[in-house]
Amino acid sequence: MNAAFLDADARSGGSTSGARFDDELTAATDALAIALRERDLAIFYRAFRATQLPFLCGPMRDDVDALFPACFAVVHRLGGLSPALALAVENHYYVTSAVATFPAAADPALEVFRHRLLDRVTDARLLVANTNSKIHGTRLGEIGTAAHRHGDGFRISGKAAYTSLATEADLLVLLTEIADEGTALFVLDRLRDNPAVVIGDYLLPTAMIDSDTRHIGFDDLDLPKEALATAAGSPLTALLIRFEMAWHQALIGALYLGCAARALDEIRRFAGEMRGRDGVPLAKLDGMIVDTGRLAIDYATARAAVERCGAAIARVRALPRDSEAIERASNEASVAKYSACRVAEAIVTAARRIVGARSFAGNSVLERLSSEVMFGVLGPEVGAVTERRLGKQVLEGSFFARTFG
Ligand SMILES: Cc1cc2nc3c(=O)[nH]c(=O)nc-3n(C[C@H](O)[C@H](O)[C@H](O)COP(=O)(O)OP(=O)(O)OC[C@H]3O[C@@H](n4cnc5c(N)ncnc54)[C@H](O)[C@@H]3O)c2cc1C
Repeated sequence: MNAAFLDADARSGGSTSGARFDDELTAATDALAIALRERDLAIFYRAFRATQLPFLCGPMRDDVDALFPACFAVVHRLGGLSPALALAVENHYYVTSAVATFPAAADPALEVFRHRLLDRVTDARLLVANTNSKIHGTRLGEIGTAAHRHGDGFRISGKAAYTSLATEADLLVLLTEIADEGTALFVLDRLRDNPAVVIGDYLLPTAMIDSDTRHIGFDDLDLPKEALATAAGSPLTALLIRFEMAWHQALIGALYLGCAARALDEIRRFAGEMRGRDGVPLAKLDGMIVDTGRLAIDYATARAAVERCGAAIARVRALPRDSEAIERASNEASVAKYSACRVAEAIVTAARRIVGARSFAGNSVLERLSSEVMFGVLGPEVGAVTERRLGKQVLEGSFFARTFG
């Protein structure tokens, strides 16, 4: 039972319960297992939308201590079945969670906007995707979309390379630049049946196909001014983007740790069933016990780092006063995610070596985990960026104060 969920439930008037959380998570996981077997993800999304799980951001708004462990539990569990699908769902969670817990009182328009958005998501049971508008140009960090003021509202044009959950989402959070003004966040409706929104091909059509990650294009899309969540001029815009990133990196870590946990369980199952020629189960061999123990220690250490991110995010209570705490949370989440994804890759590789070629036979979950786990290190922040930031901090003498001071 998720105790934090239970606490938040009591605070929100008891519309849900800890036992219900567990039941719903089991129902969603069962539906995902069927969906993967039948190759029809609609089975999962139908079951998932029928639960309260995607809409935790409503009752748990402004309550990181409840929301973080609940989101962790969901993406960790789904990540044990399909990291790709869990990644699509994680996109919904990090965006809605960041909006739900961002202390925006200093920007009254943003504060109103975020509550309206949360009410809409929970009342209409909507799923939310996000794109940072990155494209694969020849310069790192290039973005492919732009917004211009047009009449009373805005006109959006251009393309973005990455949008997970692209065909399943009802809303899209778009990070782009308003000409001559700077970075801004918009929320877009009517993705699927809007001729000015072109949901394109899969970007990752093999291993990560179940993440539904696609190109998305905007063909002079006109938006009302109400679609602007936070404007370039607001001092909170940059902070919200960093805050979202802290949630995103931490939950990506949780997702891939779920993949690692499942690989550990596959080792347990295999070593329990398989016997040596002397009839002794492999699980009784000292070498197997020691090797598995090492993997468990790596998992536990990485998990502790990811779980700590919840507390780091919760320290952001008022802005701009707690800007430094956002920086700290974001740094902590980068490090935790980096470590979790590396550990997950190592554990899945170890599981594959122990189980052997049958990892790829008879529809073993290890086959899917093997091909999807490697995407953890590729985003949202690529390892090369995290390494350079931390390396610079050490060499400039600011690392210990920034991270532990
Ligand atoms: C499966 C998946 C799903 C995604 N879904 C979404 C989504 O729904 N919405 C969204 O907005 N984004 C999404 N993304 C994109 C993600 O948020 C990042 O923008 C993306 O992963 C960054 O990877 P890139 O290859 O574009 O990085 P780039 O920034 O283009 O970097 C490419 C490579 O250059 C090197 N490099 C980069 N920076 C440096 C540096 N400072 N120093 C040295 N070398 C460097 C690294 O080797 C790096 O791998 C997704 C990504 C993946 C992998």
